[in-house]
Amino acid sequence: MELITKDLLINFLFVLLPLFLMQMFYLLKYSYRFERFKDTWFVIFLLISLAMCMFFPFSFGNGFTWDLRRVPLLLGFLYTGPKNGFLLLAALLLIRYFVGGSGFYVTLWSYTAMAILAALVSKYYIKMPLKQKLLSSVLLVFISMLLTYFAAIKVSDISLTTNMWIVYFLLNIVSMWIATAIWEVIKTNLDVLQKLIKAEKLDIVSNLAASISHEVRNPLTASRGFMQLSHESSISPETKEYIRLSIQELDRATDIINDYLTFAKPTPEKMEKILVHQEIHQVVNILTPLANMNSVNIKLSFKENESFHVLGERKKLEQALINIMKNGIEAMESGGEMFIEIEYEVQRLCINISDTGKGMTQMQIDRLGEPYFTTKEKGTGLGLMVSFSIIQSMGGSITVRSEIHKGTCFSIILPVIAVKMS
Ligand code: ADP
Ligand code: MG
Repeated sequence: MELITKDLLINFLFVLLPLFLMQMFYLLKYSYRFERFKDTWFVIFLLISLAMCMFFPFSFGNGFTWDLRRVPLLLGFLYTGPKNGFLLLAALLLIRYFVGGSGFYVTLWSYTAMAILAALVSKYYIKMPLKQKLLSSVLLVFISMLLTYFAAIKVSDISLTTNMWIVYFLLNIVSMWIATAIWEVIKTNLDVLQKLIKAEKLDIVSNLAASISHEVRNPLTASRGFMQLSHESSISPETKEYIRLSIQELDRATDIINDYLTFAKPTPEKMEKILVHQEIHQVVNILTPLANMNSVNIKLSFKENESFHVLGERKKLEQALINIMKNGIEAMESGGEMFIEIEYEVQRLCINISDTGKGMTQMQIDRLGEPYFTTKEKGTGLGLMVSFSIIQSMGGSITVRSEIHKGTCFSIILPVIAVKMS
């Protein structure tokens, strides 16, 4: 028994090792912005752990050797997707084949069946809440153990006492549970770290924005005053019109500066009832010239007679919508279509703004809203940060779905205060 425990503990160490090494790598990644290797490294660590588990198995003292190899294999399927999972399976079968001994076919059938099941579950796994994750990973191990059990009984003449089977079942289940829980804890910690870094940057930007805005506002006000004076003097109507337009543009610039200040003070000051579809029309009117220039077709699909009101500051909501739609238009460099629709759910509404542009990778989606994050040559990386903070201050949220080269959909969810159907 003593020997069993020692070998078993070593096996367990091999299961935990990749998780801790990954944590180390993630931390390094944050220090050095080391993003490219994410999944690849995890798969490599899992592969090493799988091989180590198989090379240093434990025995129940009956000549047969056992190990925890299915734990890293399942982690691979669940956390890095079917493609990497099958890669690990291939490695496992290869090692099993060359290690030799009877029972290769038991492994082949039972593990392939388990792999297919795990591949199916892995699609839904990442989105599950923690409890479901723990439950499904343990359930998967259990099913895979059952497969091995029946395969062992049917195909080969491996005979183990019931007690041994129970111990083996329990060992695998407990290991899987602990491994999943530890990996989830590590991931949560890293998420918190990322949020902290974001918050810190936001703090710096908001201070900077506040000071710059004040600096820029003064010259703008001065220019506006002089233009106003020129406008009132006796000049040709043509020049007058130009000056009027310039004043309008200066006002817009001042407005934008005011809006960039919003994230420094996220709570809206002047709450009013905003009619959503009216606001969207307004924003579309502002953006139509830009859309035409990019040969983008903006299509609205909502009923004019459904009037939903939300509570907030009109100018800020406008700013948030402009920033999001402008990104959509800019993402379609060679033209395309932008759809805007409003969906009403109970007590809340969802504004979907989708484009057929270049889309984003998951890594880009994760970084949206981070100050200065931009992929554009002349981008500021401030637009979405402001939009996110405005929508949040209205009690809403934004979700983003995107597929590279296909398009992006921003969904703005806002609480509704009054619905009037006319
Ligand atoms: P900026 O537009 O100045 O780059 P934003 O905060 O508005 O800053 O956007 C940040 C980044 O998010 C963009 O540089 C772009 O890479 C990405 N992005 C935002 N919206 C979209 C979209 N609809 N399609 C593709 N990429 C987008
Ligand atoms: Mg932008």
